[in-house]
Amino acid sequence: MDLCQLLRDIGGGYRMTEPEAAALLDIRGRDVFPILAAADDMREKKAGNIITYVRNQNIHITNICKNLCGFCGFGKSPGDDGAYCNDREEIEKKVALAAERNVTEICMLSGVHPDFTIESYEDILAWVTRAAPGVHIHAFSPDEVAHASERGGISTIEVLERMRNAGLGSLQGTAAEILVDEVRSVICPNKVKTGMWVQIIREAHRMKIPTTATIMYGSYETAMDRARHLSILREIQDETGGFTELVPLTYIHTGTPLYRQGIAKAGATGMEDILLVAVSRLFLDNFKNIQVSWGKLGLKMSELALASGANDFAGTMFADDVSRDAGAESAEYLDPVIMERIAKDLGRPLRQRTTLYHLLQGTCTE
Ligand code: SF4
Repeated sequence: MDLCQLLRDIGGGYRMTEPEAAALLDIRGRDVFPILAAADDMREKKAGNIITYVRNQNIHITNICKNLCGFCGFGKSPGDDGAYCNDREEIEKKVALAAERNVTEICMLSGVHPDFTIESYEDILAWVTRAAPGVHIHAFSPDEVAHASERGGISTIEVLERMRNAGLGSLQGTAAEILVDEVRSVICPNKVKTGMWVQIIREAHRMKIPTTATIMYGSYETAMDRARHLSILREIQDETGGFTELVPLTYIHTGTPLYRQGIAKAGATGMEDILLVAVSRLFLDNFKNIQVSWGKLGLKMSELALASGANDFAGTMFADDVSRDAGAESAEYLDPVIMERIAKDLGRPLRQRTTLYHLLQGTCTE
């Protein structure tokens, strides 16, 4: 492969193939740098110079989960030490605190509670909507949609409709991990299979419910698997245009069964992290936004990712128990003042956005 020629072609509009993406993801040494530079050029072309962030708060409702994925340190069985499930009062208290903090988005991240039904999800959405009217609710994964569908004997489309009617603003593109069933059978055997994840995301997009797209990398998969995953996302986006952004999620290994059992390695290396962002930017020619997950990457790697293809700093967050329980060191609140310092260091302006990437007034640091 002639790397310089390939990067020139991509810059000129050539659509990279899956094997080419896998080859780029496997590159090490100084050849990595031209890839990062090409991705940064592409970011400028596709998303401009502004670095965006959303003022949001994560709310965890329960860590009780039917799936118990091997890469996760958060999910627990009912009755385990530290297992919890918030009731209405506790949820409303958390939401009231988020509203006081002037967030524009509430992001609900939880385990897939075995007893939850569509009615449970509707109740939660109604409580949150009442406690924080006008705040965008970004919640639930295709796995939770499939679970509610199975439990209630209703279609996944009906689940999505009922969630939307109860206040859902956008669906999370989580539970994707790596969209290759051979990998899923090792890292998350109890989650929806690739076909079902794709089906639910397509259904959501067709119903005009936007979703994020995620990739959880660095555990067990190969570069080919990562490229396959990106290819599936690109195909869906060609068809629906419903993804708001790609959120690369690096595997945090420390507190997870997969690592303790010697099945997964100790997460991605720095080169892998940065290449994943850069190659995603070059490969996903139909995505405008690529996010850095600062709670997992840390601030210094996040800055490098923003210089290698990413354009979004994610959210203020206020809590990320999922990353913390897996062993991440920095996963709480990120003050926009710190984001601004990093944006200035990169010579780019920082702007607050909504969940759906509308820029808000009066938050420009230009
Ligand atoms: S990753 Fe999600 S679905 Fe899997 S065990 Fe953790 S909380 Fe449950």
